[in-house]
Amino acid sequence: MPLGPRTSEYLSREERAIGRVIGIRFYPIVVERAEGSRVWDPDGREYLDFSSQWAVTNLGHGHGRVLEAVRRQLERLVFSSHTTFPNTVAIELAERLAELAPGGFRKKVWFGLTGSDANEFVYKVMPVYSGRRRFLSFLGSYHGQTMGALTLSGHKAMSGLIGFPNAVKVHYPYCYRCPYGRSYPECGLFCVEFLEKQVLDIAVPSEDLAAVVVEPIQSDGGVVVPPPDFLPRLWRVCRERGISLVVDEVKVGFGRTGRMFAVENYGVEPDMIVLGKPIASGLPLSACVGRAEIMDSAIALHLFTSSAHPVSCAAALATIDAIMSEGVLERARRLGERMRKRLEEIMGRRRLVGDVRSLGMIAGVELVADESSKRPARREAAGVVYRAWELGLLTTYVGTYSNVLELTPPLTISEEELEEGLDILEKAIEDCEKDRIDWSLVRRFAGW
Ligand code: PMP
Repeated sequence: MPLGPRTSEYLSREERAIGRVIGIRFYPIVVERAEGSRVWDPDGREYLDFSSQWAVTNLGHGHGRVLEAVRRQLERLVFSSHTTFPNTVAIELAERLAELAPGGFRKKVWFGLTGSDANEFVYKVMPVYSGRRRFLSFLGSYHGQTMGALTLSGHKAMSGLIGFPNAVKVHYPYCYRCPYGRSYPECGLFCVEFLEKQVLDIAVPSEDLAAVVVEPIQSDGGVVVPPPDFLPRLWRVCRERGISLVVDEVKVGFGRTGRMFAVENYGVEPDMIVLGKPIASGLPLSACVGRAEIMDSAIALHLFTSSAHPVSCAAALATIDAIMSEGVLERARRLGERMRKRLEEIMGRRRLVGDVRSLGMIAGVELVADESSKRPARREAAGVVYRAWELGLLTTYVGTYSNVLELTPPLTISEEELEEGLDILEKAIEDCEKDRIDWSLVRRFAGW
C-alpha cells in the first residue's frame, strides 16, 4: 500500500534520527493523533487500534475523565520529586491501590515509571527483604528490559543478553504445546508437580528462594492463559514452603481481564502485585503493591527523581474512578466473551488458526502451518498483521515462536468497532491463506 507523503517523510526522518534499538516494527506507521479506539497518521489515514498501544490505552485514547484530571493537575503541580518532596496525589493513589488490591494484610506501594523498573524493584527488594538470593520464574515470561527484570524473564527478546545468574526458570503451563507432552486436566498439573518435586525439593531449596515471580497470563510469551487451577496451586506451594509470590500484572492488570486485578479471576492473594502500562491511561507510571513489611525493608533502595510523578498519579486516580464508575469491568467481560466467540468461529473457518486463548479483553490467536504438526506459522503471523494494517487495523504478534496474534482492544470499544476489527482480522487471515500478500513488503519488518 502506498504511504502518504507526510508519513513517508516522518519515517525516513525517524530512520535517520532514532536508533533501531528502541523498536519492534510490524508495518510502516507514524501516529499523529488518536481518539477513542482510533488512531490517525500524519496524512489523515485512520486506523482501528486493536493493540491499545501494547495494552496501555485500556480506556481508549484521550478518555475525558483522565484528560480533565491531567489538566487540573498540570495547573496545580506539574512536578515535585517524590523521593524528597512527596506529593499529595501520589499519597491518595497509594491509598487507593492498597485498598483495592487483593490480600487481607497491610499493604504499601512503590511507584516507578514503567513495567521494567517495577520488576527491577522486585529483583532488588525481595532478596533484601527475605535474606534469600534466588528467584524462580518462568520460561516464556516477559518482565522487562532492565538488568534485574531481564534476569527474571524467560522471553527470547532478552535471551541475547546475559542477566544475573540467580533466577531459575521452569515451564509455564502452555497446554497447547505442553512442554511435558501431557494434556490437561489428566496431567493433574504436572508442571506444578515438577516444580515442587524436582525443582524445589532438589535443585533450588525453598529456603534460598526470595520469591516466585509469575505472570497470570503470559502475554508476550504468546497470550498463554493457564488452566484455572494453576495459580491457586502455585500459591499453595508458595504458602506451604514460606516463599513469597509476586504476580506481574503489568500487561493484564487494571481491568484487561474483566477484573481490576487478573489474580482476582483465580482467588489468589500474592505478596506483591506489579502494575504498569494501563494504570495511568498512557502517562508513564508503574507501581508495586505489596506487604508493608516488604516495602519497608530498606531505605532509598529503588528510587528515581521522577517516580510517583504527580501528573501520572492524577491520571491513575481518574483511571480508577472511570473503571469503577463506568461499568468498564462488566463491559470487558461481556465484550471479551463476544470476541472469544467470534474468534472461535474464525478458527472453525480458517485452517491457519490452531488455537484461540483469551480472558476478558486479551486474546491470542495462534497460527500454525497445519493442525496436526502445529508447526508455528511465523511468517504468516507477520503477513497477517501487515495485511491487517493495510486494511486499517492495528494489531501485533507475540510468542515464543512469533506466531500468536495478540488482540488487546480498548475496554471501551463499541460493539460495532469490535465487530469491524474482527471482520478485518478474518479478511487478513484469509488473504494470507490465499497468498494475497506482498511478502517483499512484509519482509522489511523484522517484528520480534
Ligand atoms: N511485565 C509484563 C508482563 C509486560 O508485558 C511488560 C511489557 N510488555 C513488562 C513487564 C515491561 O514493561 P515496560 O515495557 O513498560 O517496561
